[in-house]
Amino acid sequence: MKIGFIGLGNMGAPMALNLVKAGHDVTGYDAAGVTIEGVANAASGAEAATGADVVITMLPNGAILQSVAAEIIPAMPKGSVLLDCSTVDVDSARAVSDQARENGLDALDAPVSGGIGGAAAGTLTFMVGGSEAAFATAKPLFDIMGQKAVHCGPSGNGQAAKICNNMILGVTMIATCEAFALADKLGLDRQAMFDVVSTSSGASWSINAYCPAPGIGPQSPSDNDYKPGFAANLMLKDLRLSQQAAASADADTPMGQLAETLYQTFVETEDGSGKDFSAMLPRFSARSRT
Ligand code: NAD
Repeated sequence: MKIGFIGLGNMGAPMALNLVKAGHDVTGYDAAGVTIEGVANAASGAEAATGADVVITMLPNGAILQSVAAEIIPAMPKGSVLLDCSTVDVDSARAVSDQARENGLDALDAPVSGGIGGAAAGTLTFMVGGSEAAFATAKPLFDIMGQKAVHCGPSGNGQAAKICNNMILGVTMIATCEAFALADKLGLDRQAMFDVVSTSSGASWSINAYCPAPGIGPQSPSDNDYKPGFAANLMLKDLRLSQQAAASADADTPMGQLAETLYQTFVETEDGSGKDFSAMLPRFSARSRT
């Protein structure tokens, strides 16, 4: 397949490389001038999109996606597919797919879970919104870049799945961290706390797979001085998207709202910027009841 790839950052670069390794013809463009061996280098997004069967975008946010889409959609061949893998707001995803369809293209929103490690290993999970036909076209590419692709319904539903998942993740990480801090103050050993909770009804991915207490459970960023991993700043971005969506859909999400406030405080007024999102544990440990 001839593929255009726009946004060759931490995630996009290894994803593009996996497509090249699988034998696809990939032309890339990144505003920061990133080049990758094996990926043909275009001088603009429009050039990368010209003649492509599928154009993949992996960009920082919805505003940038919308401006890139406005540039590349006129350059894409009729019938080709615009496959956005960025995490963006549901409204931007739907606006871009509408614009693509009006121009005779098809579009998918397909945000990912699995982080930089999953992008490099080709084990991402894709949550996909858009038509059955576009999903079928993109499926061989999902199979190269990831281990699972779930078709979640029409355009925007991939982003909806992503922000709902990450809202649960933010809330369970905070709950796990505050519970560890409470356990410490009650004199409960952290290993005992892990052994009980990880096999009891308080279990979640946050404690079982990504334990915020160093030296306990599988290897995680807490064992590496809370270097990300998944940065608190990115969790804040996703929680903001969840609350923007909740406001737009008139949904009551009090826990998601509180998680957003706590991560905002942590990132913007404390020392959380640049740390892993599980660094909420030392934050709670250092605090007293307010
Ligand atoms: P990144 O900042 O490393 O990469 C984004 C790239 O886009 C940069 O290289 C930047 O130069 C490029 N870019 C910006 N504007 C551009 C433009 N107008 N034209 C072309 N290129 C442009 O970010 P990332 O970590 O690769 O994340 C990309 C997306 O994936 C984000 O939406 C993020 O939320 C999502 N995501 C990231 C992770 C993660 O662990 N990093 C996990 C899941 C999802």
